[in-house]
Amino acid sequence: MKSENIYRSFGVDDRIAALADEAEEKLRERFAGIDRIAEYNQLKVIHAMQDNGISGACMLETTGYGYDDLGRDKLERVYADIFHAEDALVRSQIVCGTHALSIALSGNTRPGDEILSPAGLPYDTLQTVLGLNGARGSLKEYGVSFRSVDLLSDGSFDHEGIRAAIHENTRLVEIQRSRGYADRRTFSVEEIGELIRFLRSIKPDMTIMVDNCYGEFTERIEPCEAGADMVVGSLIKNPGGGIAPVGGYIAGTERCVGNAAARLTGPGLEKELGPSLGNNRLLFQGIFLAPTVTAGAVKGAILAAYVFEQLGFRTAPASSEPRYDIIEAVTLGTPEKVVSFCRGVQRAAAVDAFVAPEPSPMPGYESDIIMANGSFVSGSSIELSADGPLRDPYTVFFQGGLTYQHSKLGVVMAAQQLLDDGHLKNL
Ligand SMILES: *Cc1c(COP(=O)(O)O)cnc(C)c1O
Repeated sequence: MKSENIYRSFGVDDRIAALADEAEEKLRERFAGIDRIAEYNQLKVIHAMQDNGISGACMLETTGYGYDDLGRDKLERVYADIFHAEDALVRSQIVCGTHALSIALSGNTRPGDEILSPAGLPYDTLQTVLGLNGARGSLKEYGVSFRSVDLLSDGSFDHEGIRAAIHENTRLVEIQRSRGYADRRTFSVEEIGELIRFLRSIKPDMTIMVDNCYGEFTERIEPCEAGADMVVGSLIKNPGGGIAPVGGYIAGTERCVGNAAARLTGPGLEKELGPSLGNNRLLFQGIFLAPTVTAGAVKGAILAAYVFEQLGFRTAPASSEPRYDIIEAVTLGTPEKVVSFCRGVQRAAAVDAFVAPEPSPMPGYESDIIMANGSFVSGSSIELSADGPLRDPYTVFFQGGLTYQHSKLGVVMAAQQLLDDGHLKNL
């Protein structure tokens, strides 16, 4: 199947368009496997909505305190079922993934407790929440300490190191499913399950939290099915399906979710308060679309891997490797190439395509970051986007696309911008 010449109208060189088409041919079977995961997850979501009797009344707007918000309560039941959890907190008042993680951590620890990360340092903004770089209001200021155990050089868990790091005050273990900006693999739910069994064999009563950002719906199972006490994520990533305008979720045991809710609203208020405003329909439509939107993004990430491998760059995961999130890391090696890549992705956007992204400091992040994000929902990274911290080895992270076709255009335009800027030697 040829893509005709429509790519030429975007200024794309025929060789790059042909490379992308050829990649698609080679990846046909891979893509079919992803479609089967999407089918399974689509039915899982519909089943959860049917079981909970979702009706037109659930889409109505609420205001003020939000007592008896039918749609909100039902949406939380739907999330609980999808994530195989007892309970869930799914709120527009949670402003992003970091906020959800922050209330999950602070709600489920008390002064004197320690949080353990068995996969090295967590995501940049979480390091700030934990108090690793002196931000006010951090968990450290409230007497909650933190310890991490690096992965071994082959990327596996350091079981002996983890065993040695656990002591009587270790209260909560934070496992990050996706690599984020770190130079490591993303863990499958099965691998997370094995780690959880090991952790429980050492100290059964620790709370195990999984940062589920970017992992939702990439597999048939989610981390609570593998023994996690709670999973946490952002609605402007996978589970919002590109439709949710804001929000975050926590799904898990009634105790974990209640503890987090007490932090979000207030002690005693917990889940009773918090109006869904006019967002219920968007959050329902978002979770309904999330399995197929995620599948499109996963395919786009694999296509990116294949195309950039052909162009001579190191990718992670490689196009032939299994994958458990929507992120593709492409190591470009110089800051100029990171900038070109991101500008190319921006030029593929439907919104704000005329903007040229620049590296700049971002709240919560250590190095300057460049972000390509021309999105309907501001900053949404389930939409086509690319970002990278300007630090060695100059790796850019490509993700999203509400449709596979848009993700493909992102890959093509990133390659084209590298060519235009004189950075492609292997074409
Ligand atoms: C995106 C992300 C976060 C933080 O989410 P924000 O919505 O950007 O605050 C945390 N952890 C991981 C692994 C992420 O990918």
